[in-house]
Amino acid sequence: MIIQPKIRGFICTTAHPEGCKQAVLEQINYVKSHGAIAGPKNVLVIGASTGYGLASRITATFAGGAKTIGVFFEKEADEKRTASPGWYNSAAFEAFAHQAGYYAKSINGDAFSQSIKTQAAELIRRDLGKIDLIIYSLASPRRVHPISENVFSSVLKPIGQAFSGKTIDAFREEVKDVVIEPANNDEIAATVAVMGGEDWAMWIDFLLKENLLAEGMKTVAYTYLGPQLTHAIYKEGTIGKAKEHLKLTADQLNHALSGIQGEAIVSVDKAVVTQASAAIPVVPLYISLLFKVMKEKGTHEGCIEQMYRLFHDHLYAAKPPLRDKEGYIRLDDLEMQEDIQQKIRALWPRITSENVRELTDIQGYCDDFYRLFGFAMKNVNYTAEVDPQVKIPSIK
Ligand code: NAD
Repeated sequence: MIIQPKIRGFICTTAHPEGCKQAVLEQINYVKSHGAIAGPKNVLVIGASTGYGLASRITATFAGGAKTIGVFFEKEADEKRTASPGWYNSAAFEAFAHQAGYYAKSINGDAFSQSIKTQAAELIRRDLGKIDLIIYSLASPRRVHPISENVFSSVLKPIGQAFSGKTIDAFREEVKDVVIEPANNDEIAATVAVMGGEDWAMWIDFLLKENLLAEGMKTVAYTYLGPQLTHAIYKEGTIGKAKEHLKLTADQLNHALSGIQGEAIVSVDKAVVTQASAAIPVVPLYISLLFKVMKEKGTHEGCIEQMYRLFHDHLYAAKPPLRDKEGYIRLDDLEMQEDIQQKIRALWPRITSENVRELTDIQGYCDDFYRLFGFAMKNVNYTAEVDPQVKIPSIK
């Protein structure tokens, strides 16, 4: 099969196995070239196949030498469709990890369900004994609640009043005004049910009860705060409410984990191009401008650079991890620097469809988006036949 990108709105419905493999290899090479970290030995990554979760898994393995179990929800290829990029990434990650002699196994299924938690617990008990680090990096539009069986769908809306502002159709390079009506109470509650901390707490409580958490273990979940420009749609919107709940959950988990000197932490990460962030109004235009300004200053980072910093400078640094006054780890420190944000505030009102190429790094945004699906990679021949059927070694 010759695989080309097929863009539908803010998703791409195809993925390229060779390109995904290259993207994983680039991340592995990045961490290997930055030196070893005396990190955790046994790691569970929930949401391990793309974005920040994949970068965390790569860092734990190739900088820390850890054994990893990855949980994700991805699609295998069939006669008509390629697999999802996270499937190809995980196949490549496992193959590279095994070649280098590292333990890596994966579970593909709904992490919100009790059955996947039970499967993970059985695998941990059988192969690893106890876990030192749990990364919680799920981004999902829906959740079937494991007890009530209610189906919750998250929404990306403001709260209290309608939002009107600029957004972009990145592939048409059209800068448009959008008006987004505020969420109702049910939508807010549903978003908190999907993207808040309840499922994180269910994982930790269950594994603690099963006696599978090591003394002094850590668990980390990811959030975003961002500048004023994005607050109505992010920090002060429905997703922000869910993220507040995630932070409250960390505080509760710290209490629950005190008996094993465990720690629950929320890390604030930078805005990057992932399948999750592409779906948020306003954010892709903000990211395009952010990339332009940060690349000019030489401080631009993607997922892997930040996850390496998270492990190296924060979680497993010789000194106690630096936290802000609310207890967050701040990997968005470079994004939030005043000179960067001041330039963004000055340029934002001027952006139009006509000058978006010149004022922002829309090209960089689109390239990163294609790369998520294994396209626009160097060293891949996209006109060559490729077999879309790829196995993840540990998944039978
Ligand atoms: P992503 O879309 O790249 O990855 C999501 C992961 O979750 C994938 O591995 C996917 O398979 C998995 N997943 C989704 N639903 C699942 C389910 N039901 N069961 C099992 N696995 C499931 O997302 P991302 O952007 O890396 O986001 C990860 C976290 O980082 C989120 O909490 C997000 O809010 C946060 N974050 C993202 C950004 C950003 O700019 N992208 C910035 C800061 C924080």
